[in-house]
Amino acid sequence: MGMGERDKLSSAGRTDCSEALLRVYEFLDGELGPGECAKIQAHLDECGPCLNEYNLDTTLKALIKRSCNAEHAPDALRTSIMTRISMTVFRIEGG
Ligand SMILES: [Zn+2]
Repeated sequence: MGMGERDKLSSAGRTDCSEALLRVYEFLDGELGPGECAKIQAHLDECGPCLNEYNLDTTLKALIKRSCNAEHAPDALRTSIMTRISMTVFRIEGG
């Protein structure tokens, strides 16, 4: 058996949760490309806190996945998630 994929993931390229949230926001705002999208998706896949603490759950994951595949997300859904993220980010930064 060779090196496990899990070791690679946990030791390198770890994305911080608050940074991941900002990226999600930028992504929804149309500022990120497909490569960034894949990184966000990977983080959400393996990060429980993002989904639980920030209350973003499967709705966001589904939206990211669709958008990664170049599908246009419904504006109402996009807007509501962006609002939720911006409230969360302000809370984090404000202490
Ligand atoms: Zn996270």
